[in-house]
Amino acid sequence: MDQSFRKTTLGKSLMDIWATEPYFRSIAYFSMEIGLDPKIPTYAGGLGILAGDTLKSAADMNIPMVGVTLLHRKGYFRQEIDKNGLQRELPEVWHPEERLHLLPNEVSVTIEGRVVRIRAWEYTIVGATGYKVPVYFLDTDYEANHPDDRKLSWYLYGGDLRYRLCQELILGVGGLRMLRDLGYNNIKTFHLNEGHAAFITLELLREQGYEDYNKIREKCVFTTHTPVAAGHDIFTYDLIDKVMKPPFPDHLKNMVGGEGVVMSDLAFKYSRYVNAVSEKHKEVTKKLFNVENVDYITNGIHASTWVCPGMKNLFSRYIRGWENDPTRLVRAFSIPDEELWKAHQAAKLKLFAHVLENTGVELDPDILTIGIARRATAYKRLDLIFSDVKRLVNICAGKVQFIFAGKAHPQDEDGKKIIQKIIKMASELSGAIKIVFLENYNMDLAALLTAGVDVWLNTPKRPLEACGTSGMKAAVNGVLNFSVLDGWWIEGCREGFTGWAIGPSPNEVDLIGYDETLDAESLYEKLENEVIPTYYEKRDRWIQMMKYSIALNGSYFNTHRMLREYVERAYGRPKLVSESFGL
Ligand SMILES: *Cc1c(COP(=O)(O)O)cnc(C)c1O
Repeated sequence: MDQSFRKTTLGKSLMDIWATEPYFRSIAYFSMEIGLDPKIPTYAGGLGILAGDTLKSAADMNIPMVGVTLLHRKGYFRQEIDKNGLQRELPEVWHPEERLHLLPNEVSVTIEGRVVRIRAWEYTIVGATGYKVPVYFLDTDYEANHPDDRKLSWYLYGGDLRYRLCQELILGVGGLRMLRDLGYNNIKTFHLNEGHAAFITLELLREQGYEDYNKIREKCVFTTHTPVAAGHDIFTYDLIDKVMKPPFPDHLKNMVGGEGVVMSDLAFKYSRYVNAVSEKHKEVTKKLFNVENVDYITNGIHASTWVCPGMKNLFSRYIRGWENDPTRLVRAFSIPDEELWKAHQAAKLKLFAHVLENTGVELDPDILTIGIARRATAYKRLDLIFSDVKRLVNICAGKVQFIFAGKAHPQDEDGKKIIQKIIKMASELSGAIKIVFLENYNMDLAALLTAGVDVWLNTPKRPLEACGTSGMKAAVNGVLNFSVLDGWWIEGCREGFTGWAIGPSPNEVDLIGYDETLDAESLYEKLENEVIPTYYEKRDRWIQMMKYSIALNGSYFNTHRMLREYVERAYGRPKLVSESFGL
């Protein structure tokens, strides 16, 4: 008997089999964008970063998950700002073969009567204890396809509605077919991270012969991420009928009705569990979509991805085991004041070196530095601090410097104007206040900024910030949040401890509208009377606040805590190893 064969077969422990065989993965996480690594530019913003952080925590926590997304060979875009402050968008070309592993598997979907072939690239996340979570990047850009179809996996959120529809068919239908081809035949939960993946329902329906629509519902879990209309695709039946073969089922047309297919409607109606991403967002979602059964699970960040190197060292010395159990950050008060301050100043100097290299502006590390970086779009109001320029100068001259960053979606003209305004203000005020705008906000820059500024400012128009996560990255680095009470900050703000609130408390009438001038007024008032004096005159108090921020918010607003909630309430407890084997 061939002993080597016996050995390899029996040498595999049950644990090995459980950890590697596709059959034992029970959760498939579908997202149009996933941001895992700064060198893989397949994300546009918060949604993609959250997806990446979620999958990283799954790997750390041995959760039997698998991720599915598109390859986006030309990325989202690389941002350049010209002399006039206008944003230019360049392709962010990257090389999948340097980071991912091409698999031999191939599946297809039919689009406009043509067979579009799909292959997959694999990226493996290795968790803190070695457990692996695979992520599949779907790709149509190879010889088997018509040149037009090859472009379908090029641009994240690029092109027109037809392009978007094709991409969503590739993600939902193609993604599920790919999982089956790879041997994932025991998935109990398909997690739709936003409505883009809702065509999974069509493929699940086809798999079981278009019989029981309720069976689809048992398999899907849906997380809705924004109350803003642009985040919810609607495809007219004209378009759907042109693109889709087999046609969109009549029964579903009646269910999600109207003029066309609303992707989030499809997801709402065919998921067994639906959640929003903060408590406030849950209330907004219920009203806006007229739905009842919505839970909320507040987002988080993957702590060890976002804590800067100096803080990491400190945490590891004073809070052992924090990386794979961020709840332990509750012990942040055991870190000595001077060491915490030095670690923070190191991060600040690193950021300032980047500023100097990229803009030629030399910032002063002893001056209070405020960071404002996010998607440049109207409701985020990146330019709120410029509401009253005279007052801003009176309060901030010689005392505060500002660092901005943010991309506007290529079709968002208002967003581009906001960037232009910031750049204009920066040059007009350069004699009084140092203001810099850093190009190409991405994961690398976000990490530098959220660790290196002193205060993280966020001034969205309520109630449109579903959650927000950049403030969580700041919080865990001891950077104090100064924000409008919306999204996660309603849950994380302890006035004068973890940071400061801007504007009135959240209110029922927010949905109809509120006096937005109140926010600017409150911003100036607190900046002058609280933030600046605390920074310069009560440094000890400031450092205590940094610790409150890490201990209260860092310990809670992370994807380990978040995923635990998904496991308990959305996925259902996954089986223990012994149960998987019927022992
Ligand atoms: C964390 C992160 C975001 C999300 O930030 P919010 O403005 O808080 O939603 C967006 N873009 C990048 C590059 C990030 O790292």
